[in-house]
Amino acid sequence: MPTLSQDNAFLNAALTATHAGVFEWRVQARTITLSPNLEALLGFPPGRFDGRIDSLLDILNPHDRDQVLASVKSAPPDQTLIETEVRINGTSGQTRWFAIRGELQRDADNNPVAVIGMAQEVPPVVVSERRMRSQQSALFDLLAEDRIDSLPLDDAFQRITEKAAQTLDVERVSIWLFSDDKRTLQCHDLYLKSRNDHAQCIVLRADEYPRYFDALSKSRALAVSYAPTDHRTQELNEKYLKFLGISSMLEASIRRKGETIGVVCHEQVGPSRTWTLDEQHFAASVADVVTLILEGHEREKLLKHIEYQAMHDRLTGLPNRLWFRNMIEDRIRQSPRPFALILADLDQFKEINDTLGHELGDQLLVELGQRLTELLPIGSALARLGGDEFGLLIENPGSPEQLAGYAATFRQALARPVVCRGVRLAVQGSLGASLFPEHGADVSTLMRRADVALYHAKSDSHYRLYDPSKDRHTPRRLTLMHDLVRAVEQGEVTVAYQPKLEIDNNSVIGVEALARWNHPEFGPIDPEEFIPLAELSDLIRPLTLHMLRVVCAQWQEWKNAGHDLHIAINLSPQMLMSQGWAEALLSQLVTCGMPPDRLELEVTETAFIHDPERALATMEELAQHGINFGLDDFGVGFSSLTHLSRMPIDTLKIDKSFVQKMIRDPRLSAIVHSTIQLGENLGLQVVAEGVESVEILQKLKTMRCHQAQGFHFSQPIDADKIPAFLNQTKT
Ligand code: C2E
Ligand code: CA
Ligand code: CA
Repeated sequence: MPTLSQDNAFLNAALTATHAGVFEWRVQARTITLSPNLEALLGFPPGRFDGRIDSLLDILNPHDRDQVLASVKSAPPDQTLIETEVRINGTSGQTRWFAIRGELQRDADNNPVAVIGMAQEVPPVVVSERRMRSQQSALFDLLAEDRIDSLPLDDAFQRITEKAAQTLDVERVSIWLFSDDKRTLQCHDLYLKSRNDHAQCIVLRADEYPRYFDALSKSRALAVSYAPTDHRTQELNEKYLKFLGISSMLEASIRRKGETIGVVCHEQVGPSRTWTLDEQHFAASVADVVTLILEGHEREKLLKHIEYQAMHDRLTGLPNRLWFRNMIEDRIRQSPRPFALILADLDQFKEINDTLGHELGDQLLVELGQRLTELLPIGSALARLGGDEFGLLIENPGSPEQLAGYAATFRQALARPVVCRGVRLAVQGSLGASLFPEHGADVSTLMRRADVALYHAKSDSHYRLYDPSKDRHTPRRLTLMHDLVRAVEQGEVTVAYQPKLEIDNNSVIGVEALARWNHPEFGPIDPEEFIPLAELSDLIRPLTLHMLRVVCAQWQEWKNAGHDLHIAINLSPQMLMSQGWAEALLSQLVTCGMPPDRLELEVTETAFIHDPERALATMEELAQHGINFGLDDFGVGFSSLTHLSRMPIDTLKIDKSFVQKMIRDPRLSAIVHSTIQLGENLGLQVVAEGVESVEILQKLKTMRCHQAQGFHFSQPIDADKIPAFLNQTKT
């Protein structure tokens, strides 16, 4: 039998390419031989591994050491296959996973003699996806606890710290609250994972640790990979970190009504680590749970939904856009290895949906998602980015020809007919790709460029790699952008109105104003197409002011005819950041004599991502003048409970994607229900949009939803058709 030391170059190359290596472990001698590539993969410099099993165990995560030994020692006599996964602490602090499979050899007395097998690194995307799922289920567990908010505070805190320590695999997790004057920070619970015990708590004083206190009050999350030298936590070193052996800290602030009232602190003892974005996100959610408990509100259901929503696509079970972006950001930060980002989009999906129904469209997406998953090479990832768009990440894509080869395989998989309920459906997919690092150093640029490539792909070859020389020439968009300037200036953008009704008595309470543009050459352009262009080109402000002027005049006209309606207009996120916008809006209202309380502004959660303080300040100012606010598309964005409770909003608008399909999807219906309850708790009106049938309306009624809007009542219609609609609903 050839030994590993005679390992040939061919095998070695194949193993290296798949991030794998082979080993022979002689159990009784406590020695192990690793193939050279496995040594390298595990981070041993050439020739530095001494062949002792203990040296290898040393680099394993302590929790996995015993498990490895036990898997051999206590293997039942008839077992010959050893299969396990272990973690090692990577050189840059991140955890790497290895899958191990080996054959267990025994002597005549059936004692284990050797294990010969293979170790392969689990691709980072798989690890990241697993981590995300385990974090989600940890939060669900916490929230599903029988009314965690009604437990005595100490018990609730203990459950939280234990759960967080297990999920993030850190030694110490503690919950701290500030004193009223913010001069001291008192620890209320400290969990020590290795002892599985809760320990004595201490108090920190602001005058001793001014920088640390300052950092805590300023940010939502502090992710510190080496605390003893980081400027934010250095002060703690002498009396605290050094003494306890703490290397890395992840702190998430506990906030109430926008104010930081405490912090959940995760502390790593031993080798330091970097905190991934999804770990930071998880920590922030844990802090949100503490806020909820302190508030004593029953909002578990909503939080559960928000967390689920946050990373996950409900239909296909694939990760979603947020996860995809986070994953890419993490990857760029942690290792600069090349990858390709591919966007795939189905060509006739809208037609299938419109002519054959959403149900069939959904089935198609699920099937295609599975097909793509099966084709993924090692180290790559797939997510559903929304609608009929998928995102793929391909690690080490090789030459442009090789990448085109992958793309062709994906396209073939999409093009194979799908049989849904007896109907054979054939769709074509278009793919656009961009390369890291050639085409961009951050996610947004890479996504945008892949999108440009996709746009070109649609017009001919169905697959394109980003080509900078073509970027300026996306003809339709450029034409539209150019023509939109004129359209806005000359009032070619018109307004359609869609009624909103009170569910209880079927009366019209108001209308939503929606922009319409009939292009002289291309015909009616979807707002989903031209609004983003306006947002890109600074046209959004004049466009919104134009909408406002039209709406004001229309309000007057209806008023004179005896209809005093509330009118809502949509506000793009950046409008809340726009200098002087509040004044411009208020003065427009004064000019045309529309009372501010007849106007509602629909804003989305995206408005609060970048600079929540500024957005909130603009809203506050307008709200003080009597203007109403509605939170649009609720549920699709990245909801933060903390922001929600601070916003001066009057209405929550449940996004149509939940409402439209709630009849046949109990999960959606549960989300709609819990959102209605949340609205009730917060004293908000809840509007369901996308009400397309009487069944949906009935169901909303039983859930005690207040208001509804949708094709069941009316499409968005011209202003002159509104009075007839009002008269018809009265009778
Ligand atoms: P939105 O604010 O969520 O507006 C509701 C959209 O849902 C409208 O599409 C409306 O026609 C559609 N809709 C209403 N009821 C139903 C229904 O029962 N079923 C279905 N399938 N759809 C329904 P529209 O008019 O195409 O507007 C699309 C988006 O464009 C709006 O979404 C809004 O985000 C944006 N938008 C439109 N006008 C403006 C504007 O003046 N300013 C800004 N910033 N955005 C605008
Ligand atoms: Ca809206
Ligand atoms: Ca909406």
